[in-house]
Amino acid sequence: MLKMMDENEPQIVAALRDDLSKPELESSIYEIAMLKNSCKLALKKMKHWMMPEKAKTSLATFPSSAEIVSEPLGVVLIISAWNYPFLLSLDPVIGAIAAGNAIVLKPSEISPATASLLAKLVANYMDSSCIKVVEGAVPETTALLEQKWDKIMYTGNGRIARIVMAAAAKHLTPVVLELGGKCPVIVDSGINLQVATRRIIAGKWGCNNGQACISPDYIITTKDYAEELVDSFKCELELFYGKNPLESKDLSRVVNSNHFARLLKLLDEDKVSSKVVYGGERDKSNLKIAPTILLDVPQDSLIMNEEIFGPLLPIITIDKVEDSFDLITSGTKPLAAYMFTNNKKLKEKFVEKVSAGGLVINDTTVHLAEPTLPFGGVGDSGMGAYHGKFSFDTFSHKKAVLYRSFAGDAPLRYPPYTNGKLRL
Ligand code: NAD
Repeated sequence: MLKMMDENEPQIVAALRDDLSKPELESSIYEIAMLKNSCKLALKKMKHWMMPEKAKTSLATFPSSAEIVSEPLGVVLIISAWNYPFLLSLDPVIGAIAAGNAIVLKPSEISPATASLLAKLVANYMDSSCIKVVEGAVPETTALLEQKWDKIMYTGNGRIARIVMAAAAKHLTPVVLELGGKCPVIVDSGINLQVATRRIIAGKWGCNNGQACISPDYIITTKDYAEELVDSFKCELELFYGKNPLESKDLSRVVNSNHFARLLKLLDEDKVSSKVVYGGERDKSNLKIAPTILLDVPQDSLIMNEEIFGPLLPIITIDKVEDSFDLITSGTKPLAAYMFTNNKKLKEKFVEKVSAGGLVINDTTVHLAEPTLPFGGVGDSGMGAYHGKFSFDTFSHKKAVLYRSFAGDAPLRYPPYTNGKLRL
Protein backbone atom coordinates (compact mmCIF):
# COMPACT_ATOMS: atom_id res chain seq x y z
CA MET A 1 0.00 0.00 0.00
CA LEU A 2 2.91 2.34 0.75
CA LYS A 3 4.35 1.71 -2.71
CA MET A 4 0.92 2.24 -4.23
CA MET A 5 0.58 5.61 -2.51
CA ASP A 6 4.15 6.64 -3.37
CA GLU A 7 3.89 5.79 -7.04
CA ASN A 8 0.42 7.21 -7.64
CA GLU A 9 0.21 10.43 -5.67
CA PRO A 10 -0.59 12.63 -8.73
CA GLN A 11 -3.39 10.28 -9.83
CA ILE A 12 -4.87 10.24 -6.32
CA VAL A 13 -4.75 14.04 -6.09
CA ALA A 14 -6.40 14.28 -9.54
CA ALA A 15 -9.21 11.86 -8.61
CA LEU A 16 -9.92 13.82 -5.43
CA ARG A 17 -9.93 17.01 -7.49
CA ASP A 18 -12.44 15.42 -9.90
CA ASP A 19 -14.74 14.22 -7.15
CA LEU A 20 -14.59 17.17 -4.76
CA SER A 21 -12.20 19.77 -6.23
CA LYS A 22 -10.25 18.97 -3.10
CA PRO A 23 -7.20 21.29 -2.79
CA GLU A 24 -3.90 19.45 -3.37
CA LEU A 25 -2.56 20.30 0.08
CA GLU A 26 -5.61 18.81 1.78
CA SER A 27 -5.32 15.65 -0.35
CA SER A 28 -1.60 15.34 0.34
CA ILE A 29 -1.88 15.81 4.08
CA TYR A 30 -5.27 14.46 5.12
CA GLU A 31 -5.54 11.53 2.75
CA ILE A 32 -2.10 10.48 1.48
CA ALA A 33 0.28 11.41 4.32
CA MET A 34 -2.14 10.18 6.98
CA LEU A 35 -2.48 6.84 5.23
CA LYS A 36 1.25 6.48 4.84
CA ASN A 37 1.75 7.22 8.53
CA SER A 38 -0.85 4.62 9.36
CA CYS A 39 0.95 2.03 7.19
CA LYS A 40 4.31 2.85 8.72
CA LEU A 41 2.96 2.62 12.23
CA ALA A 42 1.35 -0.76 11.54
CA LEU A 43 4.56 -2.08 9.95
CA LYS A 44 6.60 -0.90 12.93
CA LYS A 45 4.25 -2.08 15.66
CA MET A 46 2.51 -5.11 14.18
CA LYS A 47 4.84 -7.70 15.73
CA HIS A 48 4.24 -6.14 19.10
CA TRP A 49 0.44 -5.85 18.61
CA MET A 50 0.29 -9.53 17.62
CA MET A 51 2.10 -10.84 20.68
CA PRO A 52 -0.04 -12.78 23.12
CA GLU A 53 -0.75 -10.64 26.16
CA LYS A 54 0.07 -12.29 29.48
CA ALA A 55 -2.88 -12.30 31.88
CA LYS A 56 -2.79 -12.77 35.67
CA THR A 57 -4.44 -15.81 37.19
CA SER A 58 -6.01 -16.24 40.63
CA LEU A 59 -6.41 -18.91 43.31
CA ALA A 60 -9.49 -20.16 41.48
CA THR A 61 -7.33 -21.80 38.80
CA PHE A 62 -4.08 -22.26 40.75
CA PRO A 63 -1.65 -23.46 39.45
CA SER A 64 -2.07 -21.94 35.99
CA SER A 65 -0.93 -19.29 33.55
CA ALA A 66 -2.97 -17.36 31.03
CA GLU A 67 -2.71 -15.23 27.95
CA ILE A 68 -4.89 -13.37 25.49
CA VAL A 69 -4.19 -14.39 21.91
CA SER A 70 -5.26 -12.18 19.00
CA GLU A 71 -6.63 -14.06 16.02
CA PRO A 72 -8.07 -12.77 12.74
CA LEU A 73 -11.85 -12.61 12.54
CA GLY A 74 -11.92 -13.93 8.97
CA VAL A 75 -13.38 -12.03 6.05
CA VAL A 76 -14.49 -8.47 6.73
CA LEU A 77 -16.58 -5.99 4.75
CA ILE A 78 -15.56 -2.34 4.80
CA ILE A 79 -18.10 0.15 3.43
CA SER A 80 -16.74 3.67 3.21
CA ALA A 81 -17.96 7.23 2.60
CA TRP A 82 -17.27 9.83 -0.08
CA ASN A 83 -15.81 12.77 1.79
CA TYR A 84 -12.30 11.40 2.49
CA PRO A 85 -12.63 8.53 0.06
CA PHE A 86 -9.01 7.35 0.12
CA LEU A 87 -8.41 7.71 3.82
CA LEU A 88 -11.75 6.29 4.94
CA SER A 89 -11.43 3.31 2.59
CA LEU A 90 -7.83 2.33 3.22
CA ASP A 91 -7.23 3.30 6.84
CA PRO A 92 -9.57 0.56 8.12
CA VAL A 93 -8.01 -1.82 5.58
CA ILE A 94 -4.59 -1.31 7.21
CA GLY A 95 -5.94 -2.49 10.57
CA ALA A 96 -7.83 -5.36 8.98
CA ILE A 97 -4.72 -6.58 7.13
CA ALA A 98 -2.49 -6.14 10.17
CA ALA A 99 -4.89 -8.33 12.14
CA GLY A 100 -4.75 -11.00 9.41
CA ASN A 101 -8.15 -10.70 7.74
CA ALA A 102 -9.28 -10.90 4.13
CA ILE A 103 -11.21 -7.86 3.01
CA VAL A 104 -13.91 -6.72 0.64
CA LEU A 105 -13.90 -2.95 0.32
CA LYS A 106 -16.91 -1.02 -0.99
CA PRO A 107 -15.98 2.63 -1.63
CA SER A 108 -18.70 5.25 -2.05
CA GLU A 109 -20.30 5.74 -5.46
CA ILE A 110 -20.66 9.45 -4.63
CA SER A 111 -16.94 9.94 -5.29
CA PRO A 112 -16.71 7.82 -8.46
CA ALA A 113 -13.28 8.90 -9.72
CA THR A 114 -11.69 7.86 -6.44
CA ALA A 115 -13.72 4.65 -6.25
CA SER A 116 -12.54 3.47 -9.68
CA LEU A 117 -8.94 4.53 -9.02
CA LEU A 118 -9.04 2.60 -5.74
CA ALA A 119 -10.34 -0.50 -7.51
CA LYS A 120 -7.60 -0.27 -10.14
CA LEU A 121 -4.74 0.43 -7.72
CA VAL A 122 -5.72 -2.19 -5.17
CA ALA A 123 -5.96 -4.82 -7.93
CA ASN A 124 -2.52 -3.80 -9.25
CA TYR A 125 -0.62 -3.45 -6.01
CA MET A 126 -2.22 -5.73 -3.46
CA ASP A 127 -2.86 -9.45 -3.08
CA SER A 128 -6.19 -9.99 -4.80
CA SER A 129 -6.75 -13.26 -2.95
CA CYS A 130 -6.94 -11.21 0.25
CA ILE A 131 -8.47 -7.90 -0.75
CA LYS A 132 -11.02 -6.99 -3.38
CA VAL A 133 -12.72 -3.72 -4.17
CA VAL A 134 -16.37 -3.85 -5.20
CA GLU A 135 -17.59 -0.72 -6.91
CA GLY A 136 -21.27 0.12 -6.88
CA ALA A 137 -24.17 1.84 -5.18
CA VAL A 138 -27.26 0.66 -3.29
CA PRO A 139 -27.98 -2.60 -5.21
CA GLU A 140 -24.35 -3.77 -4.97
CA THR A 141 -24.08 -2.82 -1.28
CA THR A 142 -27.41 -4.51 -0.56
CA ALA A 143 -26.14 -7.70 -2.25
CA LEU A 144 -22.92 -7.55 -0.23
CA LEU A 145 -24.89 -7.09 2.98
CA GLU A 146 -26.83 -10.29 2.30
CA GLN A 147 -23.60 -12.31 2.63
CA LYS A 148 -22.24 -13.59 5.91
CA TRP A 149 -19.20 -11.59 7.08
CA ASP A 150 -17.04 -11.89 10.15
CA LYS A 151 -17.21 -8.13 10.75
CA ILE A 152 -18.67 -5.15 8.94
CA MET A 153 -17.25 -1.68 9.28
CA TYR A 154 -19.48 1.05 7.89
CA THR A 155 -18.59 4.74 7.61
CA GLY A 156 -21.46 7.05 6.73
CA ASN A 157 -24.77 8.32 8.04
CA GLY A 158 -27.02 6.99 10.78
CA ARG A 159 -29.94 6.13 8.48
CA ILE A 160 -27.91 3.66 6.39
CA ALA A 161 -26.11 2.46 9.53
CA ARG A 162 -29.45 1.09 10.72
CA ILE A 163 -29.81 -0.85 7.44
CA VAL A 164 -26.27 -2.20 7.82
CA MET A 165 -26.82 -3.23 11.43
CA ALA A 166 -30.14 -4.94 10.64
CA ALA A 167 -28.49 -6.91 7.81
CA ALA A 168 -25.57 -7.83 10.10
CA ALA A 169 -27.95 -9.00 12.83
CA LYS A 170 -29.29 -11.74 10.54
CA HIS A 171 -25.86 -13.42 10.62
CA LEU A 172 -24.87 -12.29 14.13
CA THR A 173 -22.10 -10.27 12.52
CA PRO A 174 -20.46 -7.64 14.73
CA VAL A 175 -20.36 -4.10 13.35
CA VAL A 176 -18.28 -0.98 13.68
CA LEU A 177 -20.29 2.10 12.77
CA GLU A 178 -18.36 5.30 12.12
CA LEU A 179 -21.09 7.93 11.90
CA GLY A 180 -21.49 11.68 12.27
CA GLY A 181 -23.53 14.21 14.19
CA LYS A 182 -23.50 17.86 15.15
CA CYS A 183 -20.03 18.64 16.53
CA PRO A 184 -20.23 21.69 18.81
CA VAL A 185 -17.52 24.23 19.57
CA ILE A 186 -17.76 26.18 22.82
CA VAL A 187 -15.90 29.51 22.67
CA ASP A 188 -15.18 31.13 26.02
CA SER A 189 -14.00 34.75 26.33
CA GLY A 190 -10.50 35.76 27.44
CA ILE A 191 -8.75 33.49 24.93
CA ASN A 192 -6.31 34.07 22.08
CA LEU A 193 -9.15 34.78 19.69
CA GLN A 194 -7.09 34.91 16.52
CA VAL A 195 -5.58 31.46 17.11
CA ALA A 196 -8.99 30.05 18.11
CA THR A 197 -10.67 31.49 15.01
CA ARG A 198 -7.96 30.13 12.73
CA ARG A 199 -8.19 26.67 14.29
CA ILE A 200 -11.96 26.64 13.87
CA ILE A 201 -11.58 27.72 10.24
CA ALA A 202 -8.97 25.00 9.64
CA GLY A 203 -11.32 22.36 11.08
CA LYS A 204 -14.34 23.64 9.20
CA TRP A 205 -13.58 25.10 5.77
CA GLY A 206 -10.02 23.70 5.73
CA CYS A 207 -11.44 20.17 6.02
CA ASN A 208 -13.15 19.60 2.69
CA ASN A 209 -15.16 22.81 3.08
CA GLY A 210 -17.00 21.47 6.13
CA GLN A 211 -17.77 18.08 4.56
CA ALA A 212 -15.96 16.20 7.31
CA CYS A 213 -17.50 14.14 10.09
CA ILE A 214 -15.54 15.95 12.82
CA SER A 215 -15.82 19.47 11.35
CA PRO A 216 -17.31 22.05 13.71
CA ASP A 217 -21.08 22.02 13.12
CA TYR A 218 -22.07 24.96 15.31
CA ILE A 219 -20.55 27.36 17.82
CA ILE A 220 -21.80 28.27 21.27
CA THR A 221 -20.55 31.49 22.82
CA THR A 222 -21.76 34.13 25.24
CA LYS A 223 -23.95 37.03 24.08
CA ASP A 224 -21.32 39.60 25.04
CA TYR A 225 -18.51 37.83 23.13
CA ALA A 226 -20.36 36.97 19.91
CA GLU A 227 -19.69 40.24 18.08
CA GLU A 228 -15.94 40.05 18.68
CA LEU A 229 -15.95 36.42 17.51
CA VAL A 230 -17.88 37.25 14.33
CA ASP A 231 -15.47 40.12 13.56
CA SER A 232 -12.54 37.77 14.01
CA PHE A 233 -14.10 35.24 11.60
CA LYS A 234 -14.72 37.96 8.99
CA CYS A 235 -11.13 39.13 9.20
CA GLU A 236 -9.46 35.68 9.10
CA LEU A 237 -11.80 34.22 6.46
CA GLU A 238 -11.07 37.11 4.14
CA LEU A 239 -7.33 36.69 4.73
CA PHE A 240 -7.53 32.98 3.92
CA TYR A 241 -10.02 32.87 1.06
CA GLY A 242 -10.04 36.44 -0.32
CA LYS A 243 -12.93 38.78 -1.05
CA ASN A 244 -14.57 36.31 -3.41
CA PRO A 245 -14.28 32.89 -1.76
CA LEU A 246 -16.35 31.28 -4.53
CA GLU A 247 -13.24 31.67 -6.68
CA SER A 248 -10.79 30.38 -4.07
CA LYS A 249 -8.76 27.33 -5.12
CA ASP A 250 -8.35 26.45 -1.45
CA LEU A 251 -11.95 25.38 -0.87
CA SER A 252 -13.49 22.07 -1.96
CA ARG A 253 -16.79 22.23 -3.78
CA VAL A 254 -19.99 20.65 -2.50
CA VAL A 255 -19.85 17.02 -3.62
CA ASN A 256 -22.97 16.95 -5.83
CA SER A 257 -26.21 18.74 -6.69
CA ASN A 258 -28.25 16.77 -4.09
CA HIS A 259 -25.99 17.92 -1.29
CA PHE A 260 -25.93 21.44 -2.78
CA ALA A 261 -29.75 21.55 -2.67
CA ARG A 262 -29.78 20.08 0.85
CA LEU A 263 -27.41 22.79 2.12
CA LEU A 264 -29.39 25.59 0.46
CA LYS A 265 -32.55 24.27 2.10
CA LEU A 266 -30.84 24.69 5.48
CA LEU A 267 -29.54 28.15 4.57
CA ASP A 268 -32.63 29.54 2.89
CA GLU A 269 -35.17 28.61 5.52
CA ASP A 270 -37.02 31.87 6.28
CA LYS A 271 -36.08 32.11 9.93
CA VAL A 272 -32.43 31.33 9.11
CA SER A 273 -31.57 33.34 5.99
CA SER A 274 -31.95 36.66 7.84
CA LYS A 275 -29.29 35.52 10.33
CA VAL A 276 -26.40 35.43 7.85
CA VAL A 277 -23.65 37.78 9.05
CA TYR A 278 -20.95 36.68 6.60
CA GLY A 279 -21.01 34.82 3.29
CA GLY A 280 -24.12 33.19 1.89
CA GLU A 281 -23.01 33.47 -1.76
CA ARG A 282 -23.49 30.42 -3.93
CA ASP A 283 -22.58 29.32 -7.46
CA LYS A 284 -24.87 26.55 -8.61
CA SER A 285 -23.00 25.77 -11.81
CA ASN A 286 -19.78 24.99 -9.90
CA LEU A 287 -21.50 23.59 -6.78
CA LYS A 288 -19.80 26.17 -4.57
CA ILE A 289 -21.10 27.81 -1.41
CA ALA A 290 -18.99 30.48 0.31
CA PRO A 291 -17.98 30.10 3.97
CA THR A 292 -21.09 31.34 5.76
CA ILE A 293 -21.55 32.48 9.37
CA LEU A 294 -25.01 32.79 10.90
CA LEU A 295 -25.65 34.46 14.24
CA ASP A 296 -28.44 33.51 16.66
CA VAL A 297 -30.35 31.04 14.52
CA PRO A 298 -33.44 29.65 16.28
CA GLN A 299 -33.03 26.26 17.97
CA ASP A 300 -36.05 24.86 16.11
CA SER A 301 -34.57 25.62 12.65
CA LEU A 302 -33.58 22.82 10.29
CA ILE A 303 -29.93 23.87 10.41
CA MET A 304 -29.85 23.31 14.18
CA ASN A 305 -31.52 19.92 13.92
CA GLU A 306 -29.57 18.23 11.14
CA GLU A 307 -25.88 17.54 10.67
CA ILE A 308 -24.77 20.40 8.36
CA PHE A 309 -21.82 18.71 6.62
CA GLY A 310 -20.92 21.75 4.54
CA PRO A 311 -19.66 25.34 4.69
CA LEU A 312 -22.39 26.83 6.92
CA LEU A 313 -21.54 27.68 10.53
CA PRO A 314 -24.27 28.88 12.93
CA ILE A 315 -23.37 30.62 16.19
CA ILE A 316 -25.70 30.17 19.16
CA THR A 317 -25.44 32.66 22.02
CA ILE A 318 -26.06 32.03 25.70
CA ASP A 319 -25.81 34.08 28.92
CA LYS A 320 -23.11 32.09 30.70
CA VAL A 321 -20.57 29.77 29.07
CA GLU A 322 -21.47 27.05 31.62
CA ASP A 323 -24.95 26.89 30.02
CA SER A 324 -23.39 25.35 26.90
CA PHE A 325 -23.04 21.93 28.53
CA ASP A 326 -26.81 21.49 28.97
CA LEU A 327 -27.35 22.69 25.42
CA ILE A 328 -24.99 20.03 24.08
CA THR A 329 -26.22 17.20 26.27
CA SER A 330 -29.85 17.93 25.32
CA GLY A 331 -29.03 16.63 21.81
CA THR A 332 -27.64 13.32 20.57
CA LYS A 333 -24.02 12.49 21.38
CA PRO A 334 -21.69 14.07 18.80
CA LEU A 335 -18.66 12.45 17.16
CA ALA A 336 -16.45 15.29 18.44
CA ALA A 337 -16.83 18.30 20.70
CA TYR A 338 -14.46 21.23 21.08
CA MET A 339 -13.89 23.96 23.63
CA PHE A 340 -11.69 27.04 23.57
CA THR A 341 -10.92 28.35 27.05
CA ASN A 342 -8.13 29.15 29.47
CA ASN A 343 -10.29 28.31 32.44
CA LYS A 344 -9.11 25.11 34.16
CA LYS A 345 -12.40 24.48 35.96
CA LEU A 346 -14.31 24.84 32.70
CA LYS A 347 -12.03 22.35 30.95
CA GLU A 348 -12.65 19.85 33.75
CA LYS A 349 -16.41 20.37 33.53
CA PHE A 350 -16.32 19.96 29.76
CA VAL A 351 -14.53 16.61 30.04
CA GLU A 352 -16.83 15.46 32.84
CA LYS A 353 -20.16 16.54 31.37
CA VAL A 354 -19.91 16.23 27.60
CA SER A 355 -20.15 12.74 26.11
CA ALA A 356 -18.80 12.55 22.55
CA GLY A 357 -16.59 10.27 20.44
CA GLY A 358 -13.66 12.58 21.17
CA LEU A 359 -12.97 15.94 22.78
CA VAL A 360 -10.36 18.55 21.90
CA ILE A 361 -9.58 21.54 24.05
CA ASN A 362 -8.26 24.65 22.30
CA ASP A 363 -8.25 23.18 18.79
CA THR A 364 -10.51 21.29 16.38
CA THR A 365 -10.22 17.98 14.46
CA VAL A 366 -6.54 17.32 15.26
CA HIS A 367 -7.27 14.35 17.54
CA LEU A 368 -7.80 12.40 14.31
CA ALA A 369 -4.04 12.54 13.68
CA GLU A 370 -3.12 10.96 17.02
CA PRO A 371 -3.01 7.15 16.63
CA THR A 372 -2.67 6.62 20.37
CA LEU A 373 -6.28 7.80 20.68
CA PRO A 374 -9.26 5.67 19.63
CA PHE A 375 -11.30 7.24 16.84
CA GLY A 376 -15.01 6.47 16.91
CA GLY A 377 -18.39 7.62 18.09
CA VAL A 378 -20.77 6.97 20.95
CA GLY A 379 -24.56 6.71 20.86
CA ASP A 380 -25.87 8.21 17.63
CA SER A 381 -22.35 9.03 16.42
CA GLY A 382 -21.43 5.36 16.19
CA MET A 383 -19.94 2.34 17.91
CA GLY A 384 -16.47 0.82 17.93
CA ALA A 385 -13.24 2.65 17.20
CA TYR A 386 -10.08 2.41 15.14
CA HIS A 387 -6.66 4.03 14.44
CA GLY A 388 -3.29 2.66 15.52
CA LYS A 389 -3.58 -0.39 17.75
CA PHE A 390 -7.32 0.21 18.11
CA SER A 391 -7.64 -0.76 14.42
CA PHE A 392 -5.76 -3.99 15.02
CA ASP A 393 -7.95 -4.78 18.04
CA THR A 394 -11.14 -3.90 16.16
CA PHE A 395 -10.38 -6.53 13.53
CA SER A 396 -9.10 -9.20 15.96
CA HIS A 397 -10.79 -11.71 18.20
CA LYS A 398 -9.21 -11.72 21.65
CA LYS A 399 -9.00 -15.38 22.49
CA ALA A 400 -8.74 -16.28 26.17
CA VAL A 401 -6.23 -19.11 26.78
CA LEU A 402 -5.67 -20.73 30.18
CA TYR A 403 -2.82 -23.21 30.68
CA ARG A 404 -3.07 -25.79 33.46
CA SER A 405 -0.81 -28.68 34.41
CA PHE A 406 -1.83 -31.98 35.94
CA ALA A 407 -0.51 -30.93 39.34
CA GLY A 408 -2.60 -29.50 42.17
CA ASP A 409 -5.83 -31.30 41.31
CA ALA A 410 -8.34 -30.13 43.99
CA PRO A 411 -11.03 -32.75 44.79
CA LEU A 412 -13.49 -29.99 45.84
CA ARG A 413 -15.12 -29.68 42.41
CA TYR A 414 -15.77 -33.42 42.02
CA PRO A 415 -18.81 -35.31 43.34
CA PRO A 416 -19.90 -36.50 45.71
CA TYR A 417 -20.66 -32.95 46.99
CA THR A 418 -20.38 -33.81 50.67
CA ASN A 419 -21.23 -31.45 53.56
CA GLY A 420 -17.56 -31.42 54.42
CA LYS A 421 -16.71 -29.99 50.98
CA LEU A 422 -19.49 -27.41 51.34
CA ARG A 423 -17.97 -26.10 54.58
CA LEU A 424 -14.51 -25.63 53.01
P1 NAD B 1 -22.30 7.81 1.42
O1 NAD B 1 -23.55 8.31 0.78
O2 NAD B 1 -21.07 7.70 0.63
O3 NAD B 1 -22.68 6.43 2.07
C1 NAD B 1 -21.75 5.62 2.71
C2 NAD B 1 -21.82 4.24 2.13
O4 NAD B 1 -23.13 3.71 2.30
C3 NAD B 1 -21.53 4.19 0.63
O5 NAD B 1 -20.53 3.22 0.39
C4 NAD B 1 -22.85 3.83 0.01
O6 NAD B 1 -22.73 3.06 -1.15
C5 NAD B 1 -23.53 3.05 1.10
N1 NAD B 1 -24.98 3.05 0.98
C6 NAD B 1 -25.75 4.09 0.56
N2 NAD B 1 -27.05 3.72 0.58
C7 NAD B 1 -27.09 2.44 1.01
C8 NAD B 1 -28.16 1.50 1.25
N3 NAD B 1 -29.43 1.81 1.06
N4 NAD B 1 -27.81 0.28 1.70
C9 NAD B 1 -26.54 -0.02 1.91
N5 NAD B 1 -25.50 0.82 1.72
C10 NAD B 1 -25.77 2.01 1.28
O7 NAD B 1 -21.90 8.68 2.65
P2 NAD B 1 -22.79 9.59 3.57
O8 NAD B 1 -23.61 8.76 4.46
O9 NAD B 1 -23.40 10.71 2.81
O10 NAD B 1 -21.56 10.22 4.39
C11 NAD B 1 -21.75 11.30 5.19
C12 NAD B 1 -22.03 10.86 6.60
O11 NAD B 1 -20.97 10.02 7.04
C13 NAD B 1 -22.08 12.00 7.57
O12 NAD B 1 -23.07 11.78 8.52
C14 NAD B 1 -20.70 11.97 8.22
O13 NAD B 1 -20.66 12.57 9.48
C15 NAD B 1 -20.44 10.51 8.26
N6 NAD B 1 -19.00 10.24 8.27
C16 NAD B 1 -18.47 9.67 9.37
C17 NAD B 1 -17.11 9.43 9.42
C18 NAD B 1 -16.47 8.82 10.63
O14 NAD B 1 -15.31 8.46 10.54
N7 NAD B 1 -17.16 8.69 11.74
C19 NAD B 1 -16.32 9.78 8.34
C20 NAD B 1 -16.92 10.34 7.22
C21 NAD B 1 -18.27 10.56 7.18
